[in-house]
Formats: sequence, structure tokens, C-alpha cells
Amino acid sequence: MGFLQDAIAIFKKRDVTFIDSYKESEEVYTFRFEKDKDVTWKAGQHGLFTITHKKIKNGIRPITLASAPAENVIQLTLRISNDPSDFKKAMLELKQGMKIRMSGPVGSFYLKDDSPSVLIAGGIGITPFRSMLKQLEAEGNGVGKEIHLLYMDGKNSFVYKDELDEILNNTSIDVTYLDARDDLQKEINKLSSLHGNNGKYYIAGPKSMVESISAHLQSNAISKKSIQKDVFIGY
Ligand SMILES: Cc1cc2nc3c(=O)[nH]c(=O)nc-3n(C[C@H](O)[C@H](O)[C@H](O)COP(=O)(O)OP(=O)(O)OC[C@H]3O[C@@H](n4cnc5c(N)ncnc54)[C@H](O)[C@@H]3O)c2cc1C
Repeated sequence: MGFLQDAIAIFKKRDVTFIDSYKESEEVYTFRFEKDKDVTWKAGQHGLFTITHKKIKNGIRPITLASAPAENVIQLTLRISNDPSDFKKAMLELKQGMKIRMSGPVGSFYLKDDSPSVLIAGGIGITPFRSMLKQLEAEGNGVGKEIHLLYMDGKNSFVYKDELDEILNNTSIDVTYLDARDDLQKEINKLSSLHGNNGKYYIAGPKSMVESISAHLQSNAISKKSIQKDVFIGY
């Protein structure tokens, strides 16, 4: 069913208009686009974005919609190194009023039910969780829910930290910031023994990180069914 919905959604293409961009941290930039009234998504999903203002090779990337639908803006947050791909160079060239093309939204990485949820982000893998938490906050739905965010960033830059701290104040969600793998594993051990398979475990980030955390959860007797993965292919 999810696959069929995605196959249909991928044919929904629209041009979205660039508003502005800003630097979040040393290698991370946020880009904002206008959201038409009829565009919506489930917080955590991604779109396929195409550069249209110039011809480049491999001009399409899957990118998470880092804003919540309730924010009424399309926000993308990208890690951009000193020597970026042509796609990312083209993103940095965008000026107000220019457009990029979006297909989708697609994907099944969104909060499925009211089970206790453990959200595990590796670096830029924080983007789908920003969307989920902002949406819960906007709906007034973040109180009374058991949601733990474990945010691992070896570079210690913790993009969105101020926003996440504000969400903490308005909801019962808790966030743990971590910069070492060992500490992350300890937190995962605590939460997986607390919730077991009554919990849902959502992991987002680079492939190697997602796969190793998933294996670690399974070695803690968490079943594959309780684990949802958002693998950021390309890192
Ligand atoms: C479902 C999904 C959601 C995603 N969401 C996001 C998101 O929200 N934010 C995000 O940033 N990404 C996201 N991604 C990843 C994104 O699609 C890109 O694959 C990723 O950003 C890499 O971008 P890039 O290929 O343009 O290259 P770059 O990031 O510019 O580079 C990619 C890799 O190539 C290396 N590299 C770069 N230049 C060179 C060179 N000259 N020689 C050798 N190596 C080089 C870099 O070190 C890096 O490891 C998502 C992916 C998926 C599948």
C-alpha cells in the first residue's frame, strides 16, 4: 500500500518558489520555499528535488521536508561541505523568486501510533525529527506522549538545538544530546530495556550509522518490526 501510494505521489511534480536561505552551522544550510495551500505531507517524509535553473548532471536528490506541514513553509536543511556536488552548488546560487521542482512527498518514515517512541538521529539525520516534533508541538499533541530524542552529533554542532530546547519546554518530549557512540549505545540500552517491543524505534542518518544502531537494537531483543529506518543514501 505504502509503495503504491509512493509510486503515485512521485508523479506529483510542482515548482516551489525560493524564499531565503541561512547558515545553521559550519557545514549546514537551511533553504526555505513557499508552500502552496494544497501541498501537504506527513511529518518525516521526503521529496525528490530537481534543480531547474541550469542543466547539471545528476540534478535530483531525495531531501527530507524538515519543516512541519503546520509551519506553512517548505524547509530543507542540507549538509554542504567545502567541496560540494553540483547539486549543492546550484542550491547555494538560488535567489528569491527562483524555483526548484519537487516530486512527492513520499516515504513511510513518520510516527505511526501512540507507542512510546525513541527517535535516534545521527548528524543531519535530525531533519525528519525536527518536522515530527514541530508538528506535535503545533497540534498541542506533544504533552503526555512518551517520546525520547537521542541526538548524536560527533561534531558537537547540534543543528536546531535552540528550537528543540523550546519544544522541550512546551511538551513532555525529552532530548538527549550526545557526541560519542558509546554514550549513545548506553542511552539506547536504557530505553530499549524500558520499552522493549512496546516501543517504536526510529533511526535517521547516514547508512553506516543507521545499520549499526539497528543491529544494536536487535541485539537488545528489539524486533525488526519495531524499528523504522530512514537511510540518508549519499553520505
Ligand atoms: C530519504 C532521504 C532523505 C534525505 N534527507 C536529507 C536531508 O534532509 N539533508 C541532507 O543534507 N541530505 C539528505 N539526504 C541525502 C541527500 O539526498 C544526498 O545524497 C546527500 O546530501 C549527498 O549530497 P550530494 O550527492 O549532493 O553530495 P555532497 O554532500 O556534496 O557529497 C557527497 C559525498 O561525496 C563526498 N565528496 C564530495 N565531493 C567529493 C569529491 N570531489 N571527491 C570525493 N568525494 C567527494 C563527500 O565527502 C560526501 O561524502 C537524504 C537522503 C535520503 C535517501
